[in-house]
Amino acid sequence: MKIAIVGTGYVGLVAGACFADAGSDVVCVDVDKSKLARLEAGHVPFFEPGLEDLLKRNCPARLRFTSDLGAALDGRRIVLVAVGTPPNEDGSADLSHVLAVAREVAQLAQRDLVLVLKSTVPVGTNSKVSAIVQKESKSRISVVSNPEFLKEGDAINDFLKPDRIVIGTEDDRAFELLSRLYAPFNRQRNRLLRMSPMSAEIVKYAANALLATRISFMNEIARLCDAANGDVEDVRIALGSDQRIGYHFLYPGLGFGGSCFPKDLRALVRTGEELGIRLELSRAATVANEAPVADLLRHLDDALGGLSGKVIAVWGLAFKPRTDDVREAPALKLIEQVVAKGARVRAMDPQATQTARARLVEAKILDKVELLADPYEACTGADALVVATEWSEFRSPDAERLKRLMRGRHVFDGRNTLVAEEIVEAGLVYRGVGRPVLGA
Ligand code: NAD
Repeated sequence: MKIAIVGTGYVGLVAGACFADAGSDVVCVDVDKSKLARLEAGHVPFFEPGLEDLLKRNCPARLRFTSDLGAALDGRRIVLVAVGTPPNEDGSADLSHVLAVAREVAQLAQRDLVLVLKSTVPVGTNSKVSAIVQKESKSRISVVSNPEFLKEGDAINDFLKPDRIVIGTEDDRAFELLSRLYAPFNRQRNRLLRMSPMSAEIVKYAANALLATRISFMNEIARLCDAANGDVEDVRIALGSDQRIGYHFLYPGLGFGGSCFPKDLRALVRTGEELGIRLELSRAATVANEAPVADLLRHLDDALGGLSGKVIAVWGLAFKPRTDDVREAPALKLIEQVVAKGARVRAMDPQATQTARARLVEAKILDKVELLADPYEACTGADALVVATEWSEFRSPDAERLKRLMRGRHVFDGRNTLVAEEIVEAGLVYRGVGRPVLGA
């Protein structure tokens, strides 16, 4: 099928590459011309495993890029919108990009269209967009809510084999067109779930809020273990063995980050307020998310007798492994606070050095943070090591080597990813999240 996708970020580009790979003819549109130039040269502007290969395989035969929306619409009946919906000051979702694209598409449309909202948007947005396109266009434009559930780091697999494809529309014809578009990803079983646009909009926020709440809940239990000298690993294994609970998203750590959970949770709470409902649990999950970094900071401070003049090695900057996304990454929150207390940081991440550098420049602390290419180099002369992202590269370090390189003895495993015994046998002190301190 011939489609256009507006917004060539994580979602738009992955969707475009996957639809093209499945045989659709895709034109991706963006306002960022430098990004388009890099894409045309075959470079993905962010790290996502497998995406560059997919691009190379499909460009330019079935996948092309342009900044000209009018040209992109030519001959296409399906237009997907995947532009950003960043948070406003008050936590609500900034819909300006989505509404601007809807208006532009409506004005440029030369034929009847299905406009598919893939961006994460609060309930009621489909109605708003429908009103705009009806007012602005002579063509009939049917607005469908089709939220995206892919995970950065595993985005292609998620897109090709989705758990579900949510289609929010009352329009049979639009549903039929989208069923055809998604047919290649639907062969093994029918993953399409048709519902009202309002329900489709709510599903996306509900899914993210539930996942984030599980993380915050587990972090809270880890804090309890910490205070009572329990071991959250034992608690996690016993909890997850209950089939009603299961093991997914039960890992304590430094809190959730990234471009979705924090912003979507805040937007959900805000939407509730606008509708006169207090969404207490979602609010609490956000508040609880501040605790793990604050706790780690306190433990660091206690262990090192203050942070002024100290050197902290940090392994991992991305908000999770297999991505270079550092938006709302706990590692960067920690680094900002450690630096504010007078420490210097030596950090390493397998993919996120560039993105982190930009953030550190924004926060005006790059002069206090050395970004290194090797994890052991980051530990040279460090008073403590913090593992902030559970990259597989960090799982089994040479602990003896760490001991020789470090000035201090403290290893803080912010993701419970190291083998504690190996750290302790080398003469280091191990502190995980919600786990007894070993080797002190
Ligand atoms: P992104 O910031 O990576 O990309 C958005 C792109 O839209 C940018 O390239 C920007 O230049 C472009 N854009 C903005 N205004 C435009 C306009 N008027 N015309 C054309 N292009 C325009 O965003 P993303 O991470 O891909 O997220 C997009 C949406 O999908 C958001 O609503 C997000 O919440 C949602 N989402 C993201 C993920 C994720 O893992 N990143 C997962 C599911 C859903």
